[in-house]
Amino acid sequence: MSKIEPQPGIMEIALYVGGKSRIEGVNNVIKLSSNENPFGPSDAVKDAVTRAAHELHRYPSTDHAELRAAIAEVHGVQADRIICGVGSDEVLHFLAQAYAGPGDEVIYTQHGFSMYKIMALSVGATPVEVPEHERVVDVDAVLAACTERTRLVYITNPGNPTSTMIGLSELERLAEGIPPQAILVLDGAYAEFVDGYDGGARMVEMRDNVVMTRTFSKLYGLGGMRVGWGYGPREIIDVLNRVRQPFNLSTVALAAAEAAVRDKAYAEYCRAENARLRVWLAEALGEHGVPCDTSMANFVLARFGSQDEAEACDTYLQTQGILVRRVAGYGLPTALRITVGDESACRRVAHCVGLFKAGER
Ligand code: PMP
Repeated sequence: MSKIEPQPGIMEIALYVGGKSRIEGVNNVIKLSSNENPFGPSDAVKDAVTRAAHELHRYPSTDHAELRAAIAEVHGVQADRIICGVGSDEVLHFLAQAYAGPGDEVIYTQHGFSMYKIMALSVGATPVEVPEHERVVDVDAVLAACTERTRLVYITNPGNPTSTMIGLSELERLAEGIPPQAILVLDGAYAEFVDGYDGGARMVEMRDNVVMTRTFSKLYGLGGMRVGWGYGPREIIDVLNRVRQPFNLSTVALAAAEAAVRDKAYAEYCRAENARLRVWLAEALGEHGVPCDTSMANFVLARFGSQDEAEACDTYLQTQGILVRRVAGYGLPTALRITVGDESACRRVAHCVGLFKAGER
């Protein structure tokens, strides 16, 4: 047993618990627990990965120029303001590493992504959790929580696991109101699922205190490849590049992400299917007496009458080979988060929730 102590704060970090992918003794599990793209990566991505396999003896690009150029072209943003990371998790972490330390405060909201707290603690900063108002970010509460020690304000928009979002004027109010030493981080992991929302990209271009993060893990179907990106003022991107390892993204990951972002037709197909099926799923669950907030993302938050009921439903779904996500750890003990799957998965989960509610299980 080693008695060597880690840095202060590290042992306060609760180990991250991801969505399960297996149920003991059940084959053909329907996995709706991690907000993955049910259609998987496109054929163009699979071809790019096969081609990249021939280059595995070479070190990958260090500046990610080709991927940044592709992102810039497709998303209408500026390549020299982009940084790429091992998932958007890594970009969110670069921000904590570079801008927060002992004595500093890192703000996030009540139902925000659990990694924000982990990132704050991992750099010795103090995590500050701010209440939301009925599962929506409360801008006034966030501004009221800011102090002269606030360095980062992480906002998930649309929220996970809430699926709700706040509009651009509210985001502007946040950017305007946070103290001068703080950065507003707009985590846009689900931004692609919102019609007409740029994740805050234009705001980034107009301000010097806003950074946006995006991911290839959701719409682009590359959760297993681990690629994300950040978009910010050039000065901040320059700082973040100093804490980034030079070869953080593999040759295969870079090739896959570039092919994914360039395959606009496939992304559009996935986006349209998600938009159609999330409405269908929320309505079907509602008809079974399980209301959902209007979802802006690729999952719905199904609300039950009590924690016991939510847990019993989850347990029942597992017996039916369906995995969804308990979100008590995000302050939502009476809810289950259900990823929008393909049509048959949506029909199956809604049917099983219906049987559960009817007591016919
Ligand atoms: N932010 C939010 C809100 C998320 O839900 C996730 C994934 N669960 C991430 C960031 C991280 O995504 P990734 O590291 O896969 O890009």
